[in-house]
Amino acid sequence: MRIALIAHDKKKKDIIAFAREYQEFLKQHTLYATGTTGRMIMEQTGLNINCFKSGPLGGDQEIGAKVAKEEIDMVIFFRDPLSAQPHEPDINALFRLCDVYEVPLATNKNTAAMLMKGSI
Ligand code: PGA
Repeated sequence: MRIALIAHDKKKKDIIAFAREYQEFLKQHTLYATGTTGRMIMEQTGLNINCFKSGPLGGDQEIGAKVAKEEIDMVIFFRDPLSAQPHEPDINALFRLCDVYEVPLATNKNTAAMLMKGSI
C-alpha cells in the first residue's frame, strides 16, 4: 500500500509514537508524508519516507494530488482540532478528495490503530 502520514504540530509527538508502535507494519509499505512530519518520523524511527513540502507550504495539496491520481491507498492525518491552521482550506480539500476517491482516512490515533489492525 501507499500510505500518507501527516500531523499538525501539537500531534507530532503522537504520530511519532504511532509510527514506532506500527513500525513493523509500516516498513512493508511505501510511505509519504508532509515535510516536517516525515522528517521527524524518519529521525525517530528507522522508516524511510518520501517527504513532500511542509503542510503550510503546499504539502497537503501535494498529497491531495496523489489521492486524485489514485496513487495513495490510506491517509493517516493526526489533526489538531483546537488550533487554527493557516492552511485549513488545503486540509479540507485533502479530506474531500479522500471521500471522493474513497481512500481510508484516519484523523486520530485510535482510528489509525484500527486501520492498521484491519490491514494486517
Ligand atoms: P508538516 O505539515 O508535517 O510539514 O508540519 C503538516 C500540516 O500542517 O498539514
